[in-house]
Amino acid sequence: MQVQLERALEQVLARNAGEHEFHQALHEVFDSLGPVLDRHPEYVDAAVLERLCEPERQIIFRVPWVDDSGTVQINRGFRVEFNSALGPYKGGLRFHPSVYLGIVKFLGFEQVFKNALTGMPIGGGKGGSDFDPRGKSDGEVMRFCQSFMTELYRHIGEYTDVPAGDIGVGGREIGYLFGQYKRITNRYESGVLTGKGLTWGGSLVRKEATGYGTVLFAESMLRTIGESFDGQRVVVSGAGNVALYAIEKAQQLGAHVVGCSDSSGYVLDEKGIDLDLLRQVREVERGRVSVYAERRGAVYVPGRRVWEVGAQVALPCATQNELDEDDARALVGSGVKVVAEGANMPTTPKAITLLTESGVLYAPGKAANAGGVATSALEMQQNASRDSWTFEHTEERLAAIMRDIHDRCLTTADEYGVPGSYVAGANISGFVRVADAMLALGLV
Ligand code: GLU
Repeated sequence: MQVQLERALEQVLARNAGEHEFHQALHEVFDSLGPVLDRHPEYVDAAVLERLCEPERQIIFRVPWVDDSGTVQINRGFRVEFNSALGPYKGGLRFHPSVYLGIVKFLGFEQVFKNALTGMPIGGGKGGSDFDPRGKSDGEVMRFCQSFMTELYRHIGEYTDVPAGDIGVGGREIGYLFGQYKRITNRYESGVLTGKGLTWGGSLVRKEATGYGTVLFAESMLRTIGESFDGQRVVVSGAGNVALYAIEKAQQLGAHVVGCSDSSGYVLDEKGIDLDLLRQVREVERGRVSVYAERRGAVYVPGRRVWEVGAQVALPCATQNELDEDDARALVGSGVKVVAEGANMPTTPKAITLLTESGVLYAPGKAANAGGVATSALEMQQNASRDSWTFEHTEERLAAIMRDIHDRCLTTADEYGVPGSYVAGANISGFVRVADAMLALGLV
């Protein structure tokens, strides 16, 4: 089986030449699947894995818009509809200058497994643009979003494809996108996007869900070694939506969170992060973490990564490949016990090897950050029933989902002879759920 797997991987890599991040995601999944294919020849016969690696549909489109000086700007828009065996395509939109097809495909591929792992009826997709919302006025962001949706609307829908946010796409952008969808289609189709505002079809806890879920997942990991968050020194990377709510939940559980970051540098705040101030700077003023450090009287270190300050629990919540082998070494040196990913693929393959070989508990984003998309599925449930749930009820559902995912990763890893591997457990369990649905639906 190993030879067959390697041949299949070679073909997929060649077909997607130059898409480095997609390759990285493929390697990680293929590395886990040997034991599954050994046990399930029916997946091999039906070429399930090969089919799963080829998106069902990939859309690339022009996004013209006019900036505040009256100049026409052109960006590129993407939506990769990866797999719909389990439900409508579901996954965020990322607006960031680094976005190209390879990034969208890596994210879409990961999303298929992540969404399957939640146990909810959602397929996987992802989209975005190389548009950079940073430094743009509200009007520019609105005109861009309207133009983006003027093409995207024909491809999405409550039963077809349901985008949400990701890096660079938060409540403001989802609002402009939803407004344009509603205007073009003349339908108040709440279930077409998630991450909506509370007065127009959104769900409580959705904003908090990815960060909260990551911490709840890490809490389950700590429990397996008889520990909790109480009193742990925690470092979080990023200072966006995921990071902010990871910090909040970790603090609620008694952790001492001392660091966070943005793409320019990091903050070391030994007194513990002041979340109200951080939220004011980031969410209200859309400022950098250096501003937080200055007002707070904390240390700001430009141009370096936050991992060097050391932690017992590390939560990478910024972006892909932000924690490399040197960072992992620094964390191991400081006695890190748990690394749980709030971002998608933030830890490099070499760093993962170093962490796991050093006995650190490591959980990949497709398991640890699945709380965001799971709560999107809860938002879709509320939209379908025209209902809105309380914060407590929704948070309880999220907590139960995260516990389930955690436990399923470990039992699946046990079952397939790789005990303790969250990576293998997540990949195998996600794969089996999608593969069974694909087999049942025939060759499509
Ligand atoms: N972008 C998030 C993720 O990476 C959320 C996607 C969603 O809610 O559809 O899972």
